[in-house]
Amino acid sequence: MRPFGYLAPPDPAAAIAAVAGRPGAAFVAGGTNLVDLMKLGVAAPDLLVDVTGLLPGLIEPVPGGGLRIGAGVRNGDLAADPGVRAGFPVLAQAVLAGASGQLRNMATVGGNLLQRTRCLYFQDVTKPCNKRMPGSGCPARTGDHRNLAVLGGSPHCVATHPSDMAVALAALDAVVYVQGPAGLRVIPLGELYRLPGDRPDRETTLERGDLITAVEIPPLAYAGNSAYRKVRDRASYAFGVASVAAALDVAGGVVRDVRLAIGAVAPVPWRARAAERVLAGRPATAEWFGRATDAELAAATPLPDNAFKLTLVRNIVVRMLCELAGEAS
Ligand SMILES: Cc1cc2nc3c(=O)[nH]c(=O)nc-3n(C[C@H](O)[C@H](O)[C@H](O)COP(=O)(O)OP(=O)(O)OC[C@H]3O[C@@H](n4cnc5c(N)ncnc54)[C@H](O)[C@@H]3O)c2cc1C
Ligand code: SF4
Repeated sequence: MRPFGYLAPPDPAAAIAAVAGRPGAAFVAGGTNLVDLMKLGVAAPDLLVDVTGLLPGLIEPVPGGGLRIGAGVRNGDLAADPGVRAGFPVLAQAVLAGASGQLRNMATVGGNLLQRTRCLYFQDVTKPCNKRMPGSGCPARTGDHRNLAVLGGSPHCVATHPSDMAVALAALDAVVYVQGPAGLRVIPLGELYRLPGDRPDRETTLERGDLITAVEIPPLAYAGNSAYRKVRDRASYAFGVASVAAALDVAGGVVRDVRLAIGAVAPVPWRARAAERVLAGRPATAEWFGRATDAELAAATPLPDNAFKLTLVRNIVVRMLCELAGEAS
């Protein structure tokens, strides 16, 4: 590991100035992703700016039934919060589906959103990788891509976004509060992440020195009828092969409204808007849930070893929505 400095600034403004003014500086929160990447040589900041004591660590209700979650809230505390468990089960379940108890006790909400892909080539500095070393190539396309993207990828990169929490937040239309050199911004989660295109190294719309301070979930009357389902290669302590976050509002057997996001299938948490459009006003049945998923996956461009994800996603969506609708699948 390269030698690096450590700074514990007194307030967010000092932290932002420290990172904005030094190209080699990086924020560190729980360190559970960044420090791993430093050990691997994938990240080599020359200064770590510790933000753990500076970020709000509170989960607060917002008027109308939403939630505001400080970026410093530990993943474990978020999953255990009674208001989250009762009001937004999809979020509590998504966080609990990730990592391990020990990791969740260190990891923060801000750091979770900005964790890097688990693509094997990205993590191996002896291999080319357009994301880590722009222009060097993407060996995953012809190599090990079983767990990589079937939606939203490009010839330059087919990495997947690893966060479970972000998939639930995408379904819930969360917004991200960012404080930076340019002031305060509120960014819809769907606009925080970039698709790779020909610049897979640019993963978000954040600028140098931008600090995530909070995440806000707007009110959603039927958020209590929501769930997260993750399929992985072993029962715990593993990243997803595919996952689904869903919330469903059904009346008289008809879908009044639905929120659907898919994880581990795209470079970003994938909001399934095509599926949502198909379902609005349709019968809440396995047949329509399947048709809606097919509409979403029509844009998929799987590679030889990950085409199985399409069937997997369809099965998860149909089963979950049937459960949320109280229907047999
Ligand atoms: C073995 C293992 C298994 C895991 N399994 C899963 C899993 O199944 N699902 C899952 O979702 N996750 C999983 N994780 C990832 C884990 O959730 C993340 O490592 C964690 O959420 C990152 O949070 P952190 O606070 O430790 O971030 P850090 O490592 O401190 O930071 C991560 C990145 O975010 C930046 N950053 C941190 N906070 C802020 C902020 N407030 N504003 C701007 N930038 C910031 C840092 O500069 C860095 O680039 C796993 C991790 C490990 C080690
Ligand atoms: S998929 Fe993306 S992260 Fe993986 S090797 Fe290709 S460019 Fe790198």
